[in-house]
Amino acid sequence: MGWWKKDPLKLLRRSLGKDKLLTLPEDLASYGYDATTFRGEPIAVVMADCSEDIQTTVDFALEEGFKITTRGAGTGMSGGSVPIEGGIVLSCERMNSILKLDADEYIAIVQPGVVTAVLQEAAQRNKLFYPPDPSSYTASTLGGNVAENAGGLRCFKYGVTGHYVLGIEFVDGTGKLQLSGAFNNEDTEPELTPLLVGSEGTFGIFTRIALRLIEAPEKTVTLSAYYSTSEDALTCIEQIIQSGIVPSIVEYIDKKALSASANHLGLTYPNESEAQILLELDGSEEEVSTISPDVYQLLNSTAIEVNTAAEQSSRQQLWKLRRGISPSLSRLSLGKINDDIAVPRGCLSDFVKQISEIEIQYNLEIPVYGHAGDGNLHISILYDKNNNNSQKSAEEASREIFKSAIEIGGTITGEHGIGCAKRDYLPWQQSEAVLSLEKQIKRTLDPHGIFNPGKILI
Ligand SMILES: Cc1cc2nc3c(=O)[nH]c(=O)nc-3n(C[C@H](O)[C@H](O)[C@H](O)COP(=O)(O)OP(=O)(O)OC[C@H]3O[C@@H](n4cnc5c(N)ncnc54)[C@H](O)[C@@H]3O)c2cc1C
Repeated sequence: MGWWKKDPLKLLRRSLGKDKLLTLPEDLASYGYDATTFRGEPIAVVMADCSEDIQTTVDFALEEGFKITTRGAGTGMSGGSVPIEGGIVLSCERMNSILKLDADEYIAIVQPGVVTAVLQEAAQRNKLFYPPDPSSYTASTLGGNVAENAGGLRCFKYGVTGHYVLGIEFVDGTGKLQLSGAFNNEDTEPELTPLLVGSEGTFGIFTRIALRLIEAPEKTVTLSAYYSTSEDALTCIEQIIQSGIVPSIVEYIDKKALSASANHLGLTYPNESEAQILLELDGSEEEVSTISPDVYQLLNSTAIEVNTAAEQSSRQQLWKLRRGISPSLSRLSLGKINDDIAVPRGCLSDFVKQISEIEIQYNLEIPVYGHAGDGNLHISILYDKNNNNSQKSAEEASREIFKSAIEIGGTITGEHGIGCAKRDYLPWQQSEAVLSLEKQIKRTLDPHGIFNPGKILI
């Protein structure tokens, strides 16, 4: 028997090079989690440097019967990069080069491990703009963003990551390097790229991504308004949008989220407020200067307090409470279920009321905030992890919220994907026919089922 049969990982180490395969217990533990509570332990972690490393790993996995979970930065909110069934974790973090940024063609070619903020800054240095901006942008990778079709604050005006993906180079489940869209240098249909966007690491491993850049806006203004009721805040959002104004950002924050962040950061906000709206307007100098006073007036007609800022540092001040919400909520309780729901925007007020009722029914704290312009709310169900009843109530409340969202015409995931977190609820909103079609596509691209086991499509 060859030595590699006793320890096949030795063969992989030899093929890849020593420093590309991690097997120490502390390394395995470091690659077994994401931003959810799901945990897994891989047998090894491959630190890929190039597409050949990925192909070598796929060939090895096929030969030796291992599964592969691809990982960007591990900021995912649905367990997508957690190796829940063990196997190999393939990390793209070393594939972090911007290979090309063509300011004339408005295109960037990147490796998948480039951090979102790094591309945004590179675009800015070239007087261009890469709009997708998940709040995790200083850590998340573009590979992870494309795999999750990440949204973010600016979706209302600029759309989601998928709107900027021009092509993808990827390794399929047979180890072949495949090209889609811009990488094929042709404009043929049907296009593979939209299928790969949002595939959550289950169809293939991205090795290069072509992204569209746009002209940078000349001016940005931030407006913050506090309201004495959630309804007033949400009605005002609707009025602004109905008036034809297209803000780049439309955020809603309820009192529980506000006060968690304010306590955590030592900041204050008007005592009597039940909700805050944060808006941003961007565009040409003239356009923004013309629209801002109208928006200010609309906000001011029902708000308790309105503030506006155009300078970068004072705009950041207005953002402080919003940016502090996620870390502050994590400190508030021992357990937190992060639900990410989207409903038709016109139903937001009713949906927020339904969440308050669920909160009372299950005796839980459920702060709500999010991208109201897109009808996308982040719902944090806080519970005591050391108390089984509390955890059970939180899980039941989460299911109730999913049901309410679907009944109202919405979806159980706004921008955080399905992964293993929402896998079992997918049939609640997707027909058997569509699910079966998606599984057939998965089998075509990954015939041996080696990519991301136990996730979205099983
Ligand atoms: C504080 C915080 C705020 C957040 N805010 C937002 C937000 O505003 N909007 C939003 O959409 N999300 C948000 N997220 C969720 C998360 O940041 C995004 O889903 C992000 O796109 C994940 O990127 P990542 O690099 O961390 O990917 P990971 O978590 O490592 O992986 C996510 C998925 O992508 C797959 N994947 C990664 N790389 C590749 C590749 N090269 N090829 C194929 N598949 C790959 C993985 O297998 C996995 O299924 C937030 C998360 C946190 C913690």
